[in-house]
This record gives sequence, C-alpha cells and structure tokens, in this order.
Amino acid sequence: RRRIIDDFFSRMNPMQKQAVYTLNGPVLILAGAGSGKTTVIINRIANMVLFGDAYHSTWMPEQVTAEDVAFLEEYADGESWDSDRAFTLIRSHTVMPWNILAITFTNKAAGELRERLSAMLGPTADDVGASTFHSACVRILRREIERLGYGRSFAIYDTDDSLRVIKGALKELNIDDKRFAPKGVLSAIGRAKDELLTPGGYEAGVGDDYYKQVVAKVYEIYQKQLQDANAVDFDDIIMLTVRLFKEFPEALDYYRNRFRYIMVDEYQDTNRAQFELVRLLASESGNLCVVGDDDQSIYKFRGATIENILQFEDNFPGAKVFRLEQNYRSTETILDAANAVISNNTERKGKTLWTRNGEGVKVRVHRAADENGEAQFICDTIQANVQAGAKYSDHVVLYRMNAQSQMLERGMVKAGIPYRIIGGLRFYERKEIKDIVSYLSVLSNRSDSLRLRRIINEPKRKIGDSTVNAVVEIAAGTGATMFDVLEHADEYASLGRKTADLMAFAAMMRGLMEAADTLPLGELLDELLDRTGYLAMLQAEGFEGQTRIENIEELKSTMNRYEEENAEHSLSGFLEEISLYTDIDKYDPNDDAVVLMTMHSAKGLEFDNVFIAGAEEGIFPGVQAMYDPAQVEEERRLAYVSITRAKKQLYISDAAQRMLFGQTMRNRPSRFLAEIPPELCETEDETLLRRQQAAAMPAKKPRYSESDRMLGVGRQPVPDEGFDLRPGDGVTHKVFGGGMVISVTPMGNDHLVEVAFDGVGTKKVMAKFARLKKV
Ligand code: ATP
Ligand code: MG
Repeated sequence: RRRIIDDFFSRMNPMQKQAVYTLNGPVLILAGAGSGKTTVIINRIANMVLFGDAYHSTWMPEQVTAEDVAFLEEYADGESWDSDRAFTLIRSHTVMPWNILAITFTNKAAGELRERLSAMLGPTADDVGASTFHSACVRILRREIERLGYGRSFAIYDTDDSLRVIKGALKELNIDDKRFAPKGVLSAIGRAKDELLTPGGYEAGVGDDYYKQVVAKVYEIYQKQLQDANAVDFDDIIMLTVRLFKEFPEALDYYRNRFRYIMVDEYQDTNRAQFELVRLLASESGNLCVVGDDDQSIYKFRGATIENILQFEDNFPGAKVFRLEQNYRSTETILDAANAVISNNTERKGKTLWTRNGEGVKVRVHRAADENGEAQFICDTIQANVQAGAKYSDHVVLYRMNAQSQMLERGMVKAGIPYRIIGGLRFYERKEIKDIVSYLSVLSNRSDSLRLRRIINEPKRKIGDSTVNAVVEIAAGTGATMFDVLEHADEYASLGRKTADLMAFAAMMRGLMEAADTLPLGELLDELLDRTGYLAMLQAEGFEGQTRIENIEELKSTMNRYEEENAEHSLSGFLEEISLYTDIDKYDPNDDAVVLMTMHSAKGLEFDNVFIAGAEEGIFPGVQAMYDPAQVEEERRLAYVSITRAKKQLYISDAAQRMLFGQTMRNRPSRFLAEIPPELCETEDETLLRRQQAAAMPAKKPRYSESDRMLGVGRQPVPDEGFDLRPGDGVTHKVFGGGMVISVTPMGNDHLVEVAFDGVGTKKVMAKFARLKKV
C-alpha cells in the first residue's frame, strides 16, 4: 500500500512527502521561496481525497479479501500492473472533497490551485473548497448574514464607494477633508477592522489622539450608513464572518463540521481578523495546515502580522513543523542573489535554500540614461529572447508603483510587443463600467442608495443635487429607502415640480427590475442601455463615447462568460463575482503576452524571465520607507519576493534620470542592487558607454550615434532622407496591421505618425520606433 502511495507522490522529496502524509493535527510548513510549499498543499489535498490516512494506518477495509491483499502485495512488488484495481482497493478512509477548505491570497492563485487539482483528481476537484479568504467568507455570509441584521442580497462596496461615504461623513461632521484625507481615514478604519475593532471598540482606545478621535467618529457614521444601505466593504467581509462565528455557535458548528481540513497558503500575510477566522474554524478538529515564509511577508501595511507564523506552535499545541530547503524554481545565481539581499535583514528566522538547477546565467543589470532607455532596454531584450525561441508570456516586468507602468506600456505598444497589464487603472474603475455596475446593483438591491445616487441623473434627467438631497431627507425622516420615496414622489409636497421626473425614473427602474427576473444578463444589459438612455448619451459623445461603448461590450462578454461558467447564475451572483474580481484574474497564462505587474501582485507566481524596473532609491525602496529601518526591511522582503519569481534569468534596471509624477528626478541606484554580490552580475551602463564612445569619436556628433545602436537604445536609424511617409500613404504595423496615415509630425529624430488602422482604429505611433512600413 505504501509503495503505491509513494509511487503516486514520487516527485515529492522526503520532507515534502512527510508533509503530504501528515493529515491530522496542526501542521506548519515554513520554507523559502520556490521550495514547493504550494505544491505540497496541492499534493496534500490529493492525498486526502485519494488515499486518506491509508499511508499511516495499518487498517485494512473489511471488504478486502485475502485475494485482494495478495494482489496488493504483488502490485507493490511490481509483479502486477493493474493500477485501477490497486487504487480502488486503497481508496478507503478518504476525506470528502467538500470537507477541505484551501485558502490562498489572490483569486488567481485560487484558480491555479483548482486547475492543478483538476489535473490530479479530475471532476472530484470541483468539490474542494479552494478560494480566497474573501470569497470563502462572502459565500458564508450570503447564507448567514440575516443573523447579523443585513439582507442576503447585500452589496459589496469598493474603495471608491467607501470613499464617497467617508467624504459625506466628514462633511456631516464639519471636518476639513484636506486635513483628514478621506483615503487616510478609510485606511485607518480598515486597519481597525483588521484588528476586529468595532466603532465602539476603536473609540475606547483613542486616548487623546485627535486624529484617532476623528476617525472614531467617522467610523461610527460610516458603519451605520453601510448597514442602512445593506452594504459591506471589503474588510467587513472577514470581520462580519468572525462576528457571526462568535455570536452564533450553531453557525460555527455547521462550518466546523463542513470544513474539517483547512489549509492556508501565504500564511505570513494573514492579519489578525483572518487568523481569528481560521482559529475559530480549526480549533475543534485541529486539522489546520499553514504554509508560509517569513521572508516573504509584504503586507504589513495592510495589517498582516508575522506573529501569526511565529506563534503558530503556541497557538496550536502539538503542531508538526516541516522545513523545506531545496528550491526547485531558480538557478543558483538567482538564488544566491536573493539570499544575499535578504541576509541584510536583521529580523528574520534565517534559513538556507539550495538548488540543483545549476549556476545559470548572470543577473543582467542595466543602468539606463532615462526612463525611455529603460523601457527600450526591456523591450529590446524581450524581442531578442522571443527571436531566440522564448514566448512573450515567459516574461514579467515588475515595478514598485503603478505609475511606472505607463512608460513601460508605451514602450511595449511602440515595439509591437503584446502585453497584459495587471492592476493600474482597472477595468472596473472606469466611469462607464462603474455606472453600469451601479445600475445593475440597484436592480439587484433597491436599498443601495449610494449607487442609486450615482446614476439617478446619469444620463441627465433634470434631477439635480437639491432634488436628490430632498429625497434623501425624506428617506431619513420616514425610514423608507430612497427608492421607495421615488416611487411615491407624489405623496411628498416638498418634491413639488420634480414629482413627474422622479416617478418616471422609478417606473423605468421598476420595469428593469422586472426584466431582470426573466432576461439573461446580456439582454438585460441591452435593455438597460436602451431604456436608461445611457447608450444614446455615449453615442452622442462621438469618439470618446465609442471607446466607452467598447468597454461596456467587454462587460457584456464577461457577463456571458459568467453565465456559461455558472449553471446557477443570477444578477446578484454576477455582481458578487465582479466585486471580488481584481485584475490579476484577467491574466490568462494561455495568452502569449508579456505580463506587467506590481511586485506585490507577483506573490506565488513564477516566470522564466523577470525584469525588475526602477531599482532606484526613492522608488524601491520608496521615499517614505528610505529612512525607516523597519520599512526598509519590508521593502527588502519585497525585493526577495521579486527576485525569487525568476526561474532562469533576472534583469534589474534603473535610470539615471526619470520623469515620474510630472517631475524629473535623479535617483541613485537602489541599495538592494548593491547588496547583490558583483560577481553574480553583468552590468551595462548607458551613460558611461555613451561618454566613452563620444570621447573616441570625431568631434562632430553624427546625427545617429553609434552607441545608440550598440546599446539598442535607439532602433537602427533610418536616414531622414529616407523618410517619406505622407498623409494618405498606406502602412503596416506588426501588431496593428494595415492602415492609412492621417498626419505626420516631426518629433526628435523620429516622426509621430497618426494612422487609421483597419482593425483597431486610430493610433499614434513613432514611425521608426514602431518600424512602420510603407506599402
Ligand atoms: P513561493 O514561496 O514563491 O510561493 P512555493 O514554495 O510555493 O514558492 P511552488 O510554487 O510550490 O513553491 O514550487 C516552485 C516550483 O518548484 C514549481 O514550479 C513546482 O512545480 C516545482 N517543484 C516543487 N516541488 C518539486 C519537486 N519535489 N520536484 C520538482 N519540482 C518541484
Ligand atoms: Mg507558493
């Protein structure tokens, strides 16, 4: 029996195997990057479902006959090859898939987990609970939230929604939102929720800190308004679930029974509330397995506490601890670089990681002259790798701040490199998408007054702020919802002349609510666009409106996809899904495109080639972190996470000068760069090379410098005389295809050309950089 199981998990090393076989009781797997922690979780689940405790138990199922035992012995000795029969025989005492809850940090990681489980287990994998903290809790709350005084169809507010409420509360309290920035107040409230502090609990601890006193007041109003609107914010999701479990033991019992085996990936980044949640669920069975790496803790600013890892053995007595030391992901060079950097941190448990993957190539460090040069270096390198046989999707570009992405993105567009940007201006943050989602939210939940206010006069319906305020006042006075007031506007004298407009709006919405009960989502969207006049408004906007319409079409394809993928679909289900949707989910590893993302979102992922852009003091580490040792340590852990994403080659770049946030800055190279031993690196410096070459060249600088070409900074120049594009000419572009030139503007030593492409509409490109070809 053991032979068979060992064979099944033959890829696991002995330590990993032990962790995979230890199913009961608390387990802590503490190990560095790329050592197979996530892999162990996956195999452990497979073990539970396929074999249960068969490995350790001496037990044999009663129905197994002497003949079966003889067969198993033969099989184990390699004398029989009927694995189907062998597996059937030992698949007893297994764990039911729905008794397992595996929690990961991002939706993307959860998706990947499910995918890898499906590959091992087939359809059985669908029943394993694999999700993020948030989606697991939303599912629980949808069933149970009525116990806490909310309605089941509660809305989930995003940051933007929350900020509006905060602004309103500050205004109500007559507090200057310049001194108390809504964002800061919101994040203080978020941290309080991470600590499971209610408005009352928070207020009790403010002392004579004026800022906190204000936050306490805002928190109280904020929370009340959310509850009145039957809405929760992101942090509430966890906190309310914890409250539910504490106040309603019978609910807790149900879920304890349901989730008898719990696993948490990236445990180093859990906060107090998440810990409490896991503790409540797991304390009875004790079957909790957490995996993490103290060196990869990068969410302190969101309340994550490394104490959760450090105190695991105290919190869960009898915990078995496994340490994994072999890294399977990276080359020796990359691993040495990562180890060298992280060894500068004083607050760490310390561990050694080694690899058998071989030395590999050196880390390429590129000192660009400016941010253009940096983007150019990255794009040229990717093109060269692709020409040498790599795929675009083998490349990821990591940066510290979203603001850096714009320059890189422009480089990719100009070079014709397909790319996918993750984070940044998210799809769901665009105005038209937020408007439509607001309409849908109101259709699903009439008491969502915040979203109702967003769309009541969008498009314009002659319902101005003062009318809206009058409605709000009536609602507050009578205890009715805003929507109720709108439907009965004629009963309120104070609404006067506006009665008809308000009632027309309410009737239109009522009609859509009825349509929502019967129509598929896509058709509902069409009806909505038509009846609300939203589509007509965009059509009247011309070019700008066209892009917005395209975005809404994209929303429609998301709806269709949702309906296809979910047998039980509903409007509220769709809204729930997209509210949990972060852009990381959009990244589909099957598409061949370079990935651009922040260092934070790269956690847990791996790529052959990793670029770390903007390795400069003031960016990474950032200005705020630079002078605070604890924050520098956190940034250094982020460097460790970033470096260890690379399997084969690591590139690090900085710029001597760059334009960021509209300012030109001159930053020194990042200290983390200096912490990598020079013998692991191969460094090239644009500025230095240019200077050397300028010195070696004749006094008169040629129009296109040779160094540009050698460095790949500029494309191989096409002499100006050869430039003959005129409006009306036909051209082709590698990515955008064929098109016609509309205008040409000389710019630097290139030309900005506006082209109406046949497939993708009008774009502006730099002619030489983009290698536009005349046809
Ligand atoms: P991180 O800390 O970055 O989350 P991790 O510890 O979770 O990393 P995994 O992502 O599980 O590591 O594994 C890293 C890589 O090593 C993966 O490509 C995985 O398939 C591979 N791997 C893990 N264990 C083994 C093994 N025993 N033999 C071969 N490859 C392995
Ligand atoms: Mg992992």
